Amino acid sequence: MSDTVNSYIKFISENKTERECVKSIIALAEKNGWRDIENFETLSPGDKVYLSVYGKAVALFEIGTEPLENGMNILCAHIDSPRLDLKMKPLYEKNGIVYFNTHYYGGIKKYQWVTMPIAIHGVISRKDGSNIPVVMGEDDDEYTFAISDILPHIAQEQMKKTAGEFIPGEALDLVTGLNREDKKGEGRNAVLRILEEKYGMSEDDFLSAELEAVPAGKAKYLGLRKDMVIGYGQDDRVCAYTSLEAILEHRNAKRTCCCLLVDKEEIGSVGATGMDSLLLENAVSELALRTGSAETLRVRRALKNSYMLSSDVNSALDPLNMDLYDEDNSSKLGGGIVFNKYTGSRGKSGASDANAEYIAKLRKIMDDNGVTFQMADMAKVDVGGGGTIAKYAAWYGMSVIDSGVAVLSMHAPYEITSTYDIEMAKKCYKAFLDIE
Ligand code: MN
Ligand code: MN
Repeated sequence: MSDTVNSYIKFISENKTERECVKSIIALAEKNGWRDIENFETLSPGDKVYLSVYGKAVALFEIGTEPLENGMNILCAHIDSPRLDLKMKPLYEKNGIVYFNTHYYGGIKKYQWVTMPIAIHGVISRKDGSNIPVVMGEDDDEYTFAISDILPHIAQEQMKKTAGEFIPGEALDLVTGLNREDKKGEGRNAVLRILEEKYGMSEDDFLSAELEAVPAGKAKYLGLRKDMVIGYGQDDRVCAYTSLEAILEHRNAKRTCCCLLVDKEEIGSVGATGMDSLLLENAVSELALRTGSAETLRVRRALKNSYMLSSDVNSALDPLNMDLYDEDNSSKLGGGIVFNKYTGSRGKSGASDANAEYIAKLRKIMDDNGVTFQMADMAKVDVGGGGTIAKYAAWYGMSVIDSGVAVLSMHAPYEITSTYDIEMAKKCYKAFLDIE
């Protein structure tokens, strides 16, 4: 099996939050010669710098020989994934069981998250300014967490409800201990004592924490032929990781190359670490300042003249649910990298429809470099849809298209991709960075 797929499986097994991703991405970048942009007053062709946004989004740049205002080649993807966030006051005890209360993040089918091992990854920020990284309940620990469900024997009423209703959001709480004492609240206190011992935290520290409940355990090859990967958070780390490898291996940039890995896509790209912000413009301004001037028009031109692959996973054709797909216009597992001219829903609403001329340019690059690609819609017209981050880049006037890897069971705790597509994604991204 290829190094890329093996490294990818390791990456998504170890990095299950946007913060963990950024930390690992920076470590990998530094190993490959990238440095924090803060260390540079000026930048020259060949320099490689990164810029982190609150440790949850990161931009990597390789400075090209061409002037910045001629535009960049930008690989963009997101590193947040659907999950359950612990609430600000998460810990409670009820009728002898101690729970962590959660609020789900992103589009999930709630029933998929019950009765399986769950881990907690995140940080606790203390008043003294220290940040404590937390990983609880993973494979090599001695324990894990889980959300319970009603036994079938007494689930008659539950089974009459629709799939959207039968696991209410408030029922997605993690079982984390029992009260084995006589006194009410003692189970909860016991859990707090362990947290204090392990992480030096008090209950109040939950107020300033970001703790994310995610499926426990590692990603794996799937199937006897090992031609697929099953694992958590492949949306969109499969595009993020392959984009990262592509830029880390890139040399001799003509146009400045960028790999932009962002947060909050799953809840609408909001906030300071999401694409619906000045994050990209701010980063490019820092670059502009160090390569000549950060004059507004120069920054605007740099953005307007850029090419971007806005990479996000696409819905793979599901042979067991063919009525949802227009076969000719769907992406298949193992069919290569996917380009979506448009996304959106109900008549392309919310889509950034890529220009035909730009697609023609990409077709040529892909063909010249032996990249297998497929053009696809998410599914049949009017069966659903969704937005992506392409429109936030298009806002600057740049050429941008949605692209990415096809995923089966997208947004499920364990998603399925094809190893061939993963390799093809990287090949596509490498070729894209050389577009002139
Ligand atoms: Mn998603
Ligand atoms: Mn996505």
